[in-house]
Amino acid sequence: MLTRNQTKLRQEQRAKREMTDINFDVNIDFDEASREWRKNKNSLKNGMFSYKKNKKNCCHKDEYGIKCRKKQIIDSSYCEIHL
Ligand SMILES: [Zn+2]
Repeated sequence: MLTRNQTKLRQEQRAKREMTDINFDVNIDFDEASREWRKNKNSLKNGMFSYKKNKKNCCHKDEYGIKCRKKQIIDSSYCEIHL
């Protein structure tokens, strides 16, 4: 039979483990999301990001039917302005 102290200790250990599990999940999700987010971006030295560009031009046309001359962002048909 467990003493009251041992029971308390076990509860604390379980609570700690659950907290660690939760943190672990959050970290994985965060990494996943941030990896996803970085996929079409370059990281710059100052901690900023720039979009990776395709060789193709942006598909956006203005009201005169003139195509945008900026490059497409990877995974998109548009430049960063017309996303
Ligand atoms: Zn554009």
